[in-house]
Amino acid sequence: TLGHTAGDRLLQLAAERIRSALRAGDTCARLGGDEFTVLLAPLEQPEQAETVAQKLLDLLRQPFELERERVFVGASIGITLFPDDGREAGDLMKHADQAMYQAKALGRNRFCYFTATLQQQAQRHLALTQDLREALPRRELQLHYQPVVRLVNAQVVKLEALLRWPHPQHGQVPPQEFVPLAEQSGLIHPLGDWVFERATRDMIELSQRLGRLLPVNINKSPRQFLAGQTELRWPRWLEGLGLPAEAVTIEITEGRPEVVARIHALAQAGFRLSLDDFGTGYSAMAYLKRFPIREIKIDRSFVRDMTVDLADRAIVEAIVVMAHRLGLEVVAEGVETEAQAALLRAVGCDYAQGWLFGRPQALAELEAH
Ligand code: C2E
Ligand code: MG
Ligand code: MG
Repeated sequence: TLGHTAGDRLLQLAAERIRSALRAGDTCARLGGDEFTVLLAPLEQPEQAETVAQKLLDLLRQPFELERERVFVGASIGITLFPDDGREAGDLMKHADQAMYQAKALGRNRFCYFTATLQQQAQRHLALTQDLREALPRRELQLHYQPVVRLVNAQVVKLEALLRWPHPQHGQVPPQEFVPLAEQSGLIHPLGDWVFERATRDMIELSQRLGRLLPVNINKSPRQFLAGQTELRWPRWLEGLGLPAEAVTIEITEGRPEVVARIHALAQAGFRLSLDDFGTGYSAMAYLKRFPIREIKIDRSFVRDMTVDLADRAIVEAIVVMAHRLGLEVVAEGVETEAQAALLRAVGCDYAQGWLFGRPQALAELEAH
């Protein structure tokens, strides 16, 4: 619409951007019209193609400055893998083309795989990631709250905020599926801020309803510490609400050396720190020494079998003893039966959380205890 000269200039600028995302050995060619082909060779892992594709999308989404105009174009990308999807150049081109049309059909500014297996999973993740981008502005995300009770009298002492995403087409998408997608795409930062702000505002509302302040536990992904420092704004936000930082516990699962300072900063700002999923892969004993942790949450997997498995029972008991010797509080996660609760009481566990005491619920459904 702006004439041939502008069109040619746009193609050149686009080509430069594409090239800037590639390594020296990669190939980029314009096959005709507005279509480019990129050859990534060699690929160590197929997932690298995805990283490059995302980079290209991000680059091409930025406006182009032509002589008199500023234009937005965007891109749709089809990915095909040699030799899985074809050994001949012709087949690969055809499959990449089909995948590209799929990308266009799904709404542009995205990439699609040709491979049937990869395609299905990646497609869903991709679609969900794109949808997640819209979920915040569309107010689709919700927080549910699960009570944490004192084991001796089942009194609710605080709540854990848990994200919920009722997807308009797919129904409830579990946080275990979309939180990792948010982490990979960087969406975890706005999302994490939203969780923090929503949860603390909800606390105010709830305290007015109950006549007492119920502290809240908020989950923070390790990835949230790796970039962005929005939590530096959190103390001021709390001040604005008139909430003490003490009333907010941040649950962490991991503390790689590069985020140590950030986690300490949270503690210095007055937040309580909780070590979530304790006893599983990431939640290591060393963190107890490295961070000013105030509470440990025993992972559900130990609680689940402790009534039948002596080893699990011993582990739970040992965690409780250790925590108390360190001056920490202990929360048992995923308590579903009275038998589990009784055993936890017997080993001196302080708090519990689980379906026996209450499922995660929307704020409006929380009853006054
Ligand atoms: P988590 O922090 O360990 O949360 C506890 C999970 O156990 C929740 O799953 C909760 O619904 C579930 N649960 C609680 N009681 C029971 C029980 O008695 N039985 C069983 N089977 N499950 C129980 P949910 O809500 O699906 O969340 C899964 C994970 O997603 C959370 O594990 C947390 O790691 C992550 N997540 C949830 N919300 C957020 C969030 O706001 N931010 C971040 N970064 N991660 C979140
Ligand atoms: Mg948690
Ligand atoms: Mg947990």
